[in-house]
Amino acid sequence: EAVINRIAAGEIIHRPSSALKELLENSLDAGATSVRVTVKDGGMKLLQIQDNGCGIHKDDLPILAERFTTSKIASFQDLERLTTYGFRGEALASISYVSHLSVVTKTKKDICAWRAIYVDGALAAPDGSPIDPKPCAGNDGTTITVENLFYNTPTRLSALRGSSEEYSRILDVVTKYAVHNPHVSFTCKKSGSSAPDLTTPSGSNTKQTIRLMYGPTIAKELIEVSVSPSSGEDSMDVDDDATAEGPWKAEVLCTGPNYEAKKMVFLLFINHRLVESQRMKKALETIYSGIISKGSSPFVYLSLQIDPHSVDVNVHPTKREVHFLDEELITRKICDTVIEVLLRRNTSRVF
Ligand code: ADP
Ligand code: MG
Repeated sequence: EAVINRIAAGEIIHRPSSALKELLENSLDAGATSVRVTVKDGGMKLLQIQDNGCGIHKDDLPILAERFTTSKIASFQDLERLTTYGFRGEALASISYVSHLSVVTKTKKDICAWRAIYVDGALAAPDGSPIDPKPCAGNDGTTITVENLFYNTPTRLSALRGSSEEYSRILDVVTKYAVHNPHVSFTCKKSGSSAPDLTTPSGSNTKQTIRLMYGPTIAKELIEVSVSPSSGEDSMDVDDDATAEGPWKAEVLCTGPNYEAKKMVFLLFINHRLVESQRMKKALETIYSGIISKGSSPFVYLSLQIDPHSVDVNVHPTKREVHFLDEELITRKICDTVIEVLLRRNTSRVF
């Protein structure tokens, strides 16, 4: 059974950065305003995430790494909502099957922190013997430590790139979550080095964080665009079919016509989860390469909020490509609005 679970876990956790993405989402879900990431050997030796979130209650520790353990289902209706991107309580379980996982956590109410270690979904020492959580010193919040990722799945391990490549993927994930959560302070560093490779302050805003992470050249060219089913409708262009069913809204920060780069940078968050959509990426890229300035690629940050029910729950979360209801319609509406704004910019500069 452990072997099956190990294979399943490898399907969910592909590499250090995919483990990190899950752990970051958990910290953010826990209301953290500070998230510190420490990495050794590209995350293969060590991946540690320390947050100041709500912590985990001691009584929940024994089942924490069991599959389908989630505190995020409050009602039956929520179940459907949560299946959108979450792994329905599969992330920590999966990680425990392919690494040495330990947790130190303290809620505000607890007088001390608790330390728990897991193997194959249960509280256990690395040799497999059961071991109860132990009291220890610690601050409010949770520190998750993942060591020796894929030590027992050589195929996964051999599919990884070198540690510097894996580390840059980790930095990329932290950078994107930092942009999407400007109120949260993030750091990311290699274990043993004193200066972090990435730091953001808390209480910043999205534009400032983009400047910090991607540089002033991009930041000063950014244009803000808000799109919703009804936006632009005052232009009398009432096309009945062109309005998506449920309510949705998109916040876009994209570079203007004067910005030139070889490669597109695309940050897509749907309902606050970092996802990929080749369709959206292509559609947006086409605007720039074809209409605005030939051969140039943009920077686009796009935060889309849609009805969680409209996200395709049949697509397994490991397929990073996301699909949702009215995808084509929503994409078209966003692109049309962006084109309009860009063209307006373009002409105002020419004349
Ligand atoms: P899910 O996020 O889908 O619920 P996970 O396996 O990622 O599943 O996490 C399981 C549960 O562990 C969460 O529902 C949450 O209650 C708890 N948890 C995990 N990480 C943290 C954290 N950093 N702070 C507080 N609670 C956490
Ligand atoms: Mg999770």
